[in-house]
Amino acid sequence: MKVVPIPQLSDNYAYLVVDEGTRQAGIVDCAEAEPVLRAVEREKVDLTTILPTHHHLDHVGGNDDLLAARPGLTVYGFDERIPGLTKRVADGDSVQVGGLAARVIYIPAHTTGHIAYFFERDRAVFTGDTLFAGGCGRLFEGDAPMMIKSLSKLLALPDETRVYFGHEYTEKNLRFALTLEPRNETLRQKHAWAKAEAEKGGTTTPTTIDSEKATNPFLRWKSEELRATLRERYPDLPMTDEAVFAKTRALKDHF
Ligand SMILES: [Zn+2]
Repeated sequence: MKVVPIPQLSDNYAYLVVDEGTRQAGIVDCAEAEPVLRAVEREKVDLTTILPTHHHLDHVGGNDDLLAARPGLTVYGFDERIPGLTKRVADGDSVQVGGLAARVIYIPAHTTGHIAYFFERDRAVFTGDTLFAGGCGRLFEGDAPMMIKSLSKLLALPDETRVYFGHEYTEKNLRFALTLEPRNETLRQKHAWAKAEAEKGGTTTPTTIDSEKATNPFLRWKSEELRATLRERYPDLPMTDEAVFAKTRALKDHF
């Protein structure tokens, strides 16, 4: 398996997923068809599949143009809001890209139709706008308990799993995380790296489940330091997983 990140719009990523055996490929989250078609030419692959994580335009806006250029593509998706949808999938379903297989993981809350694609054999997961490096998506169509449940499914994946996320928000996410866990040394080091990458226009994708467990405040609702910071600022906040997560999300919304 080869994964080629393709920058889209201002800070989105599409990912070309290539089965190196058959040279067939799928595209995760296409906002703009042109750069994707250029990557398909460059990599000399046969594009067969569109793998959208959710219906927001910055993840599916290029579907119709791709279908016009390459009729017959299989378009997976959880609900009818995906443009060009040909195959509805649900939690646990298997999807194919050439000889590669991914399991669909249903992870609602950013939207009610959000899914991830987990390529188990290749230890890679595509998480769209649910899990970012150092962050998580806004709760547009769900609440904190729903997002905790969704993120917990991703947390259960093997530690070494590479996480390909939907937006390059890493530097700002980790800058926010440091306001809650200023003594988290792993976080501090990762932020310094992300900042250096941002300054030279580099990329921080992919991350790993392991790295997210150590640095992402939206997976760290049990962290002593994070809870102590919130307790000090909000003495009346109940120290439940849901309340800690919801307060972290609300603070990030205004960061
Ligand atoms: Zn979105």
